[in-house]
Amino acid sequence: MADFRFCPQCATPLALREEQEDGGPKARLRCPACDFTHWNNPTPVLAAVIECADRDGRILLARNAAWKHRAFALITGFMEAGESTEAGIAREVKEETNLDAEQLNLLGVWDFQRMNQVIIAYHVVARGDIVLSPELAEYKLFAPGDIVCWPQGTGQAMATFLRSRGIEPTFMDMATRLAS
Ligand SMILES: [Zn+2]
Repeated sequence: MADFRFCPQCATPLALREEQEDGGPKARLRCPACDFTHWNNPTPVLAAVIECADRDGRILLARNAAWKHRAFALITGFMEAGESTEAGIAREVKEETNLDAEQLNLLGVWDFQRMNQVIIAYHVVARGDIVLSPELAEYKLFAPGDIVCWPQGTGQAMATFLRSRGIEPTFMDMATRLAS
């Protein structure tokens, strides 16, 4: 993960320095000139399990164009400043698939420590014509019972959605997923 090397306030090179914080001594990247602290807090990421109301309730999963492996995943995106999580996920779904969200149900919140992210996942009931953004290479529509979950990140959101439908999720191991 890319990290700051220079102070975003005064451009002085940051230094790893231990200081006394509320929770005890803690080493962080800090600016020796202006006392800026790089907290490195996790970034909120919005994720959608999209249920296509006009396609027999099937679930849309999409493959990112940048991925070498042929895995299908939830629609995700970063929150923008000045929007609610609900407005943000509806915007992401529209931008990525052209579908219009008509109902949003919060599935849950999961930490994704490897990416230093917090995933905020919604079940999104949507309809409309599917037009993928250039970021996405292809999509597939799955009956909920046919979905095999992945163990990390948004896979927990997928599993939660399936359980809400009375389906006990099965998980693939990542080696299988990357090879497919
Ligand atoms: Zn500084």
